[in-house]
Amino acid sequence: MHFFTPKRCEPTNKIMYQSKIVALRAAEDSRIERGVELWVYQCQYCNTWHLTHKDPQIHFHFNGGYTRKPTSRKKGYKPRKR
Ligand SMILES: [Zn+2]
Repeated sequence: MHFFTPKRCEPTNKIMYQSKIVALRAAEDSRIERGVELWVYQCQYCNTWHLTHKDPQIHFHFNGGYTRKPTSRKKGYKPRKR
């Protein structure tokens, strides 16, 4: 027998999906087959995609102060000399 055993992410112990599309498909399968609604999110540890029972958008609420720092310095800055 050839059985595909999915890799699991160590910190979260969740199944790793290599792309969002694959994860979304798995989430849809579980909704159809088991009636379980799952959310897809990208893991901060392993950068693959996981499924979760909770709406990941809730985290944004708790994490409300998070903003990306705008890059103040341009990388391609060249002083003009003429
Ligand atoms: Zn992970």
